[in-house]
Amino acid sequence: MARQAHPATPRVYEVWYAYVSRQEVELVERLDHALALAHAVPLALIEALHEEFFARERQTEVVRQTGEKLSNELTRILQMLANAGRDTSSFADALEKIAARLPADGELRKIVDTIVLATRHMEAKTRRLEAEIERCSTEIRTLRQGLDASKREAMTDPLTGLYNRRAFEERLRLAAAHSMETDTEMALLLSDIDNFKQLNDTWGHQIGDAVIQLVASSMKEGLPPGSIAARYGGDEFAAVLPGVSIAEAEAIADKTRELVASKRLKDSMTGKPIGHMSVSIGVAGYVLAERLEELVWRADKALYDAKDAGRNRVKTRWVPGNK
Ligand code: GH3
Ligand code: MG
Repeated sequence: MARQAHPATPRVYEVWYAYVSRQEVELVERLDHALALAHAVPLALIEALHEEFFARERQTEVVRQTGEKLSNELTRILQMLANAGRDTSSFADALEKIAARLPADGELRKIVDTIVLATRHMEAKTRRLEAEIERCSTEIRTLRQGLDASKREAMTDPLTGLYNRRAFEERLRLAAAHSMETDTEMALLLSDIDNFKQLNDTWGHQIGDAVIQLVASSMKEGLPPGSIAARYGGDEFAAVLPGVSIAEAEAIADKTRELVASKRLKDSMTGKPIGHMSVSIGVAGYVLAERLEELVWRADKALYDAKDAGRNRVKTRWVPGNK
């Protein structure tokens, strides 16, 4: 930040902090690109990145929370109105009964009839108000559902339906924080499809995509509750396993590996069987308070150990003194 002579405002600081801590892959890539292009990164770019990566997300969250509060408040008002409507209605019923007992042409009867009319009027108004608020309430609910859906979409990989890389990083951060707070274990798996380029070249991109989907569902299948699977990159996947030891994670990874290796796919056009598929998986366990890049680095190294050892296997990278 100092090198770029950028002012240390909270927004500028937030962007550079995210860059240095490698929290937002896309932001890092965009800034790297800008750094490679010119000597000076324009302040306007920093502002734009802030708007894109932080401000909008926060606004969406604020709108969502406000909508939720408003919607709860409206439900409460609706209940109050329903009660008021019922009270008014029984008051009018009681008045009508009294009116019926009064002589038809008397002065008192005229007065009570006028009160009954005014009360019925009020009753109808309350019902109209109720209907109006009900409509507002539905509108807010629809808006909230829309926001939830767009938030989900922003976190999901479209091809596989798994979490995307960005959501993975968020979940990993949360899992690490939880692990530190509760002093529990947490494991990370990184997997990569073996010889996938060749499969793509032989069978085409469409079948390649189908294989990615199959591996994605296999990754998800064997996970314990509370764990999440994500598409980490092209043919790479990740799983965050809170509360899971390295030994348990190895067993889970091996089941996933077996599951993928046992799958058989056929080319739907020609009926020809597509050869064996396999994945290599790297396992690493979180060391309390370490930087997350270190954990990801170990899982990645373990994955490459598995590739080097011949693929279709699971390998673990331990931290000295952690075994
Ligand atoms: P290795 O066993 O070492 O992993 O070999 P590999 O051939 O799988 O090598 P690598 O993992 O580097 O190859 C990834 C390939 O995945 C390259 C790219 O063409 C392909 N790919 C990436 N994204 C997609 C996608 O969305 N669909 C398809 N069909 N292919 C993809
Ligand atoms: Mg691969």
